[in-house]
Amino acid sequence: MSFSHLGLAEPLVRAIEAKGYTTPTPIQRDSIPTLLEGRDLLGIAQTGTGKTAAFVLPSIQRLVAAGKRVLPTHVRMLVLAPTRELASQIADSARGYGQFSKLTVATVFGGTSINKNRQDVARGVDILVATPGRLIDCVEQGFINLSMIEILVLDEADQMLDLGFIHALKKIVRMVPRKRQTLFFSATMPTSIRDLASQFLTDPATVTI
Ligand code: AMP
Repeated sequence: MSFSHLGLAEPLVRAIEAKGYTTPTPIQRDSIPTLLEGRDLLGIAQTGTGKTAAFVLPSIQRLVAAGKRVLPTHVRMLVLAPTRELASQIADSARGYGQFSKLTVATVFGGTSINKNRQDVARGVDILVATPGRLIDCVEQGFINLSMIEILVLDEADQMLDLGFIHALKKIVRMVPRKRQTLFFSATMPTSIRDLASQFLTDPATVTI
């Protein structure tokens, strides 16, 4: 089984080859074809399984296929992560996998000045990776607009709940269009997480690793 067998296009396969990966991991094998079809996904998986590539690769392909960003402040894909470290790692991966796909990637997270966030998104962003609290500040300041989001990813949802981001998450989900693709990843699936997932996802495929 190769990455091109999963339905990934040439610029993405080239970026994967540049990383030196030859074989998809189980979560990549099980998620990528479903995500390319545009379905929602509930992924029960830990970090270290290759889940970042599993959601970034098909998302880039769908964004490229759907066309271009309309306005500079309109973000097309939003990835929410619990910590700045994880957000930075996801953004680095997205830049690597998207290196032949001409999409822009930015991060916003707390701990830096909001003016830095403003500068980082000023040239326009296709894929934004953010921690929930700071993202809301940026939207309220008016320099990030979530009304054109096509793909929403919640990564490490259990960690985000543990850090007290439940209200922020619900608020953000109210800011994005109803018609979107949603991906929800969590290492654990207690009832609180399952309830949240069922509010955010529509008829999801489930992948457990
Ligand atoms: P993640 O679970 O997304 O944090 O990825 C864990 C690590 O596995 C990262 O260092 C990736 O660069 C690496 N990785 C992702 N996919 C593959 C693959 N198909 N083959 C080898 N390594 C991979």
